[in-house]
Amino acid sequence: MHNSLSERDQLVNWHPYTQMQTAPPPIGITRGEGAVLFTEDGREFIDAVSSWWVNIHGHAHPHIAERVSQQLRTLEHVIFAGFTHAPAVELAERVLKLLPQNQARVFYSDNGSTAVEVALKMALQFWFNQGKDKTKIIAFEGSYHGDTFGAMSVSERSVFTRPFQQYLFEVEFLPVPVPGEEELTTAQLEKLLDREDIAAFIFEPLVLGTAGMVMYSPEVLDHLLELCRAKGILVIADEVMTGFGRTGKRFACDYLSQEPDLMCFSKGLTGGTMALGVTTSSQAIYDSFLSEDKTKTFFHGHSYTANPVACAASLASLDLVEKQSFLENLDRISVSHAAFARTLEGKPGIKVCRQTGTILAIEFEVGQTSYFHSLRDQLYNLALENGVLLRPLGNIVYVLPPYCITNAQLEKVYGVMEQMRNLV
Ligand code: PLP
Repeated sequence: MHNSLSERDQLVNWHPYTQMQTAPPPIGITRGEGAVLFTEDGREFIDAVSSWWVNIHGHAHPHIAERVSQQLRTLEHVIFAGFTHAPAVELAERVLKLLPQNQARVFYSDNGSTAVEVALKMALQFWFNQGKDKTKIIAFEGSYHGDTFGAMSVSERSVFTRPFQQYLFEVEFLPVPVPGEEELTTAQLEKLLDREDIAAFIFEPLVLGTAGMVMYSPEVLDHLLELCRAKGILVIADEVMTGFGRTGKRFACDYLSQEPDLMCFSKGLTGGTMALGVTTSSQAIYDSFLSEDKTKTFFHGHSYTANPVACAASLASLDLVEKQSFLENLDRISVSHAAFARTLEGKPGIKVCRQTGTILAIEFEVGQTSYFHSLRDQLYNLALENGVLLRPLGNIVYVLPPYCITNAQLEKVYGVMEQMRNLV
């Protein structure tokens, strides 16, 4: 007899980013509340990574739950080609109000990778529709934009992408302009921009998440975007991770004076309730698809495009995002992270601490770093043993908490991170 969730799961499921032969059994979760997850065997974990960066308001938020259940009883789904519905219209209106002024149109999909695919396809077809031969994309080294083929192509080529290498399209990679590297990046970008075939530049603004929470300044990014826009090259902000408060403002692009042509969102968009992706575009991009000639149409869509329940979840999440208390929580967490980071400065085992808003990353001192470094599993297990869910990226441990996390819960997370130094 297989009774527990964990045991039954092991007979039928295949988990993401998991070596199924050697990974420990999955932990059965029965419910969540606020920042806490409850297991079937009576344990509790503080979800310090917001379950892959999505649950910005914590788990099972009653306001979102209520709105979602109302929507389920009203209209659960309708084809979005030729039809529309209130949640999709209202969500587009409200999202656009929060974004840089030039953002004029919303295209729905259903996760972060597809939001990126849509942006890449829009950028390439923008040029194609004008009969221009601009087909090359620029991306940052180390970036991660998702797991579908287009998104993989513009991501760091690594152990993740190696089996598919021959099917990934060619991309021009730029070094990330971390402190000290700004001039190199700028010079390389200027050289690329002299070419005639560059279509677009895609970037994770301010923080490259999967790369290990690698951070760079808004001033440098603004300068890079200015260079691109001066040459008419499209710029695509992938705010799938940074959107909805992560960097201390509602969006990372709120730190910039340049406006992106295309923006990608998912993760925090529904507060972690439903799978939804959004790509927004400027009017100029949208206009380039308008024609009496039907071949200029954007031929892209998913069965679940603009699912009304997902849009309703997102509307409820936006109610919370638009509150003053949302910004207050971002400040509270940012200040708390900064204070903790200062206590770690110069301590043995710590290579460097980085922080942007609610994102805090600690890089532990190890000789050779790699995705498979044995320290990674030790750090992960130590956190779990202490009731905290952290998912280190190699030797880098980061906190990306739900904004409802209490100060006491934050202190507990920091305590575990402090303890991790003993493993180094
Ligand atoms: N873009 C960025 C910046 C991300 O961090 C991620 C996921 O981590 C994605 C895109 C892909 O999103 P999803 O996992 O929803 O496909």
